[in-house]
Amino acid sequence: MKNINELELLLNISNLVNSKSDIYEIVTLVKQCLKNLKDINLFYYDYSAKKLKDAVNNFSVVEDMFDDVASGVLYSNFLKLSNCDFILNQKETIYSTLKPDEMIQMESILVPLKSDGSLFGMIELSFDNTVSVKHSFLQFLVIFSNHILMKIHNKLLQDRIQTNSDFYDALKNIAKIIETQYELNYIIPLIGEMIDKFISNHLIYIFIKQDSEYKLFWPNDCRDRKIYDMMSGMGREYIVSEDRKTGVFPLISGKNILGCVAARSTIDKLTPNEIDYINQLTKQSSATIERANVYAEALKHATLDALTGLNNRRQFELRLKQEYASATRQKHPLCAMMIDIDFFKKINDTYGHAAGDKVLKTVANVIKDKLREYDIPSRYGGEEFCVLLPQTKIEEANIVAQRLRAAIEKTVIETFDEKNSENKKISVTISLGLTQLNEKDSAEDLYMRADKALYEAKERGRNRVIVYEG
Ligand code: GH3
Ligand code: MG
Ligand code: MG
Repeated sequence: MKNINELELLLNISNLVNSKSDIYEIVTLVKQCLKNLKDINLFYYDYSAKKLKDAVNNFSVVEDMFDDVASGVLYSNFLKLSNCDFILNQKETIYSTLKPDEMIQMESILVPLKSDGSLFGMIELSFDNTVSVKHSFLQFLVIFSNHILMKIHNKLLQDRIQTNSDFYDALKNIAKIIETQYELNYIIPLIGEMIDKFISNHLIYIFIKQDSEYKLFWPNDCRDRKIYDMMSGMGREYIVSEDRKTGVFPLISGKNILGCVAARSTIDKLTPNEIDYINQLTKQSSATIERANVYAEALKHATLDALTGLNNRRQFELRLKQEYASATRQKHPLCAMMIDIDFFKKINDTYGHAAGDKVLKTVANVIKDKLREYDIPSRYGGEEFCVLLPQTKIEEANIVAQRLRAAIEKTVIETFDEKNSENKKISVTISLGLTQLNEKDSAEDLYMRADKALYEAKERGRNRVIVYEG
């Protein structure tokens, strides 16, 4: 250590700190620069959580990294550092009391991380044997600690900016869902996924109140008793459990509680920031769900699907009854065709839901366009369509189906790829199941057989028409 050139060391380390962004990587390289160094640790004090955190290990709280005794020593040393310049060989030391021309025997040293007169953390160095260092080595350590503190501050600031921007994205996306959708079965999973993606350390659940009971809407399963217990006592304000690992956040609309968002972790506590984030996301979700309910109510008497302009599911059921009755009465043939877009989930996942909606609209338009005037197309649900073909035999229906399949395959759909913010031309295929009404059929039999044929079309590789053959 005697022959260390501090200026050269400083230059190396300054370059290192400048060129690397990962604190772990910096510390590992510093270890290689300093001979005889056994260990180097970096602790950062988080004033809002009132915890010392290990800056080398992802800012984990020291109590989670070390046993009680070791973390107790760290906290007590940290306190001592506010009254001295270093803790040298476990003794509080004032710099000016050291003689400049005397060598210092060093086994370990704790250097404070200070900025603007406040203490933000400390660097701990320990050596294999006692090393003999010059006075200037201490000066080197102070400059190094300033560098490192700046790096830590930058890193924390960057993380905060990123988190904030992710948060506003999540808020915006939850608000946007409603632009085209109003079925709770469809929008709740989307909201769940968005909150879950943002609050990654915790499991997220969404419950909706139905007949005065909370029913889980997302994900499929929740076996956590704690959540159910807390939900039963929930009012209009969120509740966080005593161990801070579980929180329930009510979804509120006017005077009513619609349900709740629950967050749960077995390891991490919910930080005040996370609680605030989930609370705000829950409020935005309440607004989205409330508007969806208003839409759904208003559309109760509608006959057309809002997104595609085809008949909606209710209207489909009505038309099926009518066409069935007239076909059996007048002994006319009647065919049904079930259509499902292939790998549609992938479109949503790759380009976003707006692109998915555009695909739905386009497919619906092509279907309308290619059918004859007296055919009856409906949006059966999600990405499934059902067409009734009155006065049509299966052979003709097959020709219509093939024509549709080919037309969709050829259609280029211009969409906006939300993930990469660019226009994209995409195309999709559809699978179709076909059947004709038999003499002894009920109206449901017709639909069920078309659906079975569709299932077979999927099984046999998609992008094809299958005619039901019992
Ligand atoms: P397969 O070829 O087997 O039919 O695969 P798929 O991905 O098309 O089928 P799956 O049933 O797994 O996915 C259907 C997806 O359609 C899931 C759902 O999120 C999405 N979806 C349903 N309704 C809408 C809607 O109105 N808009 C958008 N963008 N997506 C929807
Ligand atoms: Mg489907
Ligand atoms: Mg599909």
